[in-house]
Amino acid sequence: MRSEFLPFSPPFVGEEEIRGVTEVLRSGWISRGPVVSQFEEEFRQKLGAPAALGLNSGTAGLHLGLQVMGIGPGDEVIVPTITFCASANVVEHVGAKPVLVDVMDDTLNIDPLAVEAALTDQTRAIMIVHFGGHPAEMDELIGIAERHGLKVIEDAAHAFPASYRGEMVGSTSRMTAFSFYATKNLTTGEGGMLTGDPEFIEQAATLSLHGMSRAAWNRYSEASQWYYEVVAPGYKYNMADLQAAVGRAQLVKLESMDQRRREVVRMYADGLSSIDGIRIPCEKEHVSSAWHLYPIRVHPDLIQGGRDVFIDRLSERNIGTSVHFIPLHLHPFYRDKYGYVSDDFPVAREAFEQLVSLPLHPGLTDEDVSDVIEAVELVSTGG
Ligand SMILES: *Cc1c(COP(=O)(O)O)cnc(C)c1O
Repeated sequence: MRSEFLPFSPPFVGEEEIRGVTEVLRSGWISRGPVVSQFEEEFRQKLGAPAALGLNSGTAGLHLGLQVMGIGPGDEVIVPTITFCASANVVEHVGAKPVLVDVMDDTLNIDPLAVEAALTDQTRAIMIVHFGGHPAEMDELIGIAERHGLKVIEDAAHAFPASYRGEMVGSTSRMTAFSFYATKNLTTGEGGMLTGDPEFIEQAATLSLHGMSRAAWNRYSEASQWYYEVVAPGYKYNMADLQAAVGRAQLVKLESMDQRRREVVRMYADGLSSIDGIRIPCEKEHVSSAWHLYPIRVHPDLIQGGRDVFIDRLSERNIGTSVHFIPLHLHPFYRDKYGYVSDDFPVAREAFEQLVSLPLHPGLTDEDVSDVIEAVELVSTGG
């Protein structure tokens, strides 16, 4: 057994990030300025996106995305129940109603059939979450959106870099929000990026900085020192140069980080696929997953006490894990406001009782991965 605890998801940062931050600190401009613009452009190019806007969180991106698409009171937005709470919270923020739906058993992504079944006259948009970095069934979902005149917003917090039928998630004109939270594939500590249609991104840019007009947006430049006009009651959602410096350094390492995740995934698949009662996550042929998470499913009969005890046993063996996610319909706010019961979404409910996310990050050594596999084997066989 390993002697040191293996944390679930420590940030993968090094001297390059430290150097970048130090340069910004010494530059005399630390909040939104030229480094954010550079990071936006580099990120945009990496995806081939029409436009990109740096923000202080992925949640801010989802909120602004909904707002610039004109989603508001009286509207319904369809959201998968297996996601982080932010995906639905932002729908509440714009005064609309999140309508939760079930997910597919294999990828735990939003189920197109469930979307179709949830459509009403009030449905205005679909929130597509690419769970764990595995792209959702875009052809079916976009088809539904087109047939019913719905907007689409993509929660790509897990999905950088990922692609669907050769198209990078976030490379289209659809509003797509990425997160750079500490645990995400690329981190800026806290931060996010909104990509999509340039006109919407322009509006989102104004809203992200108090609703101040574009002139003020470039306040760091010599041209406009003090004058600005407020054209909308905006938010304080902008990214800072300090964060962008971390992001730029991370972007340089993107390929190697992505590659290491894939190596770990291969080792997990080799080591875990033959264990009875353990189901490993899949990657469908027509996608390339960002492999943000490695959610295995523990059969309820595998161990007395089920998933919860499985997690405790791994923890006793110094392996950190997590659960993604507690379905939104089980949380008191959504349950009570909309009257959900746990059986409303049977696929999500069954999955939730079995889900355990194993450590998956580029800092894992081969030995770490072997330790995880060994611990899962031992715990699964009653050791
Ligand atoms: C992390 C996450 C978010 C929110 O991102 P923040 O940058 O923390 O605001 C949204 N959706 C999902 C699915 C996430 O995992």
